[in-house]
Amino acid sequence: MKVLITGGAGFIGSHLTERLLNEGHSVIIIDNFHTGSRDNIRHLLHNDDLEIFRHDVTDPYRMEVDYIYNLACPASPIHYQRSPVKTVLTSVMGVINALKLATEVKARVFQASTSEVYGDPLVHPQKEDYSGNVNPIGPRSCYDEGKRIAETLMFDYHRENDVDIRIVRIFNTFGPRMRPDDGRVVSNFILQALRNESITIFGDGSQTRSFCYVDDMVEGMIRLMDQDEHTGPMNLGNPDERSIKEIAELIIEMTGSSSEIIYKPLPKDDPIRRKPDITLAKSHLGWEPQVKLEDGLPKAIEYFRPLAKMHAAPEKVPN
Ligand code: NAD
Ligand code: UDP
Repeated sequence: MKVLITGGAGFIGSHLTERLLNEGHSVIIIDNFHTGSRDNIRHLLHNDDLEIFRHDVTDPYRMEVDYIYNLACPASPIHYQRSPVKTVLTSVMGVINALKLATEVKARVFQASTSEVYGDPLVHPQKEDYSGNVNPIGPRSCYDEGKRIAETLMFDYHRENDVDIRIVRIFNTFGPRMRPDDGRVVSNFILQALRNESITIFGDGSQTRSFCYVDDMVEGMIRLMDQDEHTGPMNLGNPDERSIKEIAELIIEMTGSSSEIIYKPLPKDDPIRRKPDITLAKSHLGWEPQVKLEDGLPKAIEYFRPLAKMHAAPEKVPN
C-alpha cells in the first residue's frame, strides 16, 4: 500500500509512520514542520520506503496513493491559538486538498478529527451522535470549528463524489514525541515535575480528561482505515476519566518530585468534563485501549527526562 500522511512529522503522525513502515507499506509524509520535527522521524530516515516533502497542506499537491491520512494541524491550544486564521485555513483547505486528491486518484481518506467537536459537552460521556456545545467565536473556535467543517466537507465529498472516507474523533492522547513546548497538561506536568518546579493547575483541577496512550490510538486509527464497513465518525480514546489534580499528583509521585502544586486561572471555554463513549469502536473494530495510564506515563516520563534539562514548560496560559 502507498500511504500519504499529512502531518507525519508530528507527535501522532510519526508513530503512525513508524507503524506503517514496520508493516511494509510505503509512506509519503507531507509536513510544513510548523509543530512537527525531523527529530520525530530521524530514526526512520534510512528507510527507502519513506519519502518526506516540506509542503503546506493549504496548497494543493498531487501524487498516486492508495490511502491518505490527513493529520496536518497544530493540536495544542498554545500553538493553534498563535495564528488562529492559519489554523482554520489548515483544517479547511487541508481537508479540501486531501479530498480533491482522493477524488482524483480514488484513494481512501482519513480525517483526524477531535473530541473538541463536542466543545464543552453537556452530555457525558460523549457519544458520536451528540452534536456538541461549541462556542463559534471563542479562542478555541479556530480549532474546534475548523475540525467541525472538516467533518462536514468529508461527508459532502462522500455524498457528492462518492469519496471513500474515514473519520476518527481523537480524545486526549499522550506519549513520547509530544513537544516539550506544547503546553499540554501531560508534557507540562512531567517537565515541571522533573525540574522540581511548581506544577501549574489551571482552575481548581476538578476538570476531567481521559488520556489515551499513543500506541493504542494508532492501532484504532489503522483498524478504522483497514475495514470497509464504517466511515465514522468514531470516537477513539481511553474512557478512564481523571481529574487534572489527580494527574498532577500521579506525575509528582511517579517522578519522585518535590514540586508543589500552584493554581492559575482556567482558560476561557476550557471544557469541564470529557470522556469518550467507545461502544462503537469496541463493537465495530474490536478496539479498546490496552495501555493503562499508570503504564503509559512512565514511558512519557522517560522520553522527557533528557529534554527536561533543556526545556522548561511554557509559561503561557492559553486564552
Ligand atoms: P502535532 O502538532 O504534533 O502534529 C501536527 C503535524 O502537522 C505537525 O507535524 C505539523 O508540523 C503539521 N502541520 C501543521 N500545519 C500544517 C500545514 N499547514 N501543512 C503541513 N503540515 C502541517 O499534533 P498531534 O498531536 O500529532 O495531532 C495530529 C492530529 O491529530 C491533528 O490533526 C490533531 O488535530 C489531531 N488530534 C490530536 C489530539 C492529541 O491529543 N494529540 C487530540 C485530538 C485530535
Ligand atoms: N492544564 C493545566 N495545566 C497545564 C496545562 C493544561 O491545568 O499546565 C489543563 C487545561 O486547562 C485543561 C486540561 O489541563 O483543563 C487539559 O489541557 P490540554 O491542553 O492538555 O488539553 P485540552 O484542553 O485540549 O483537552
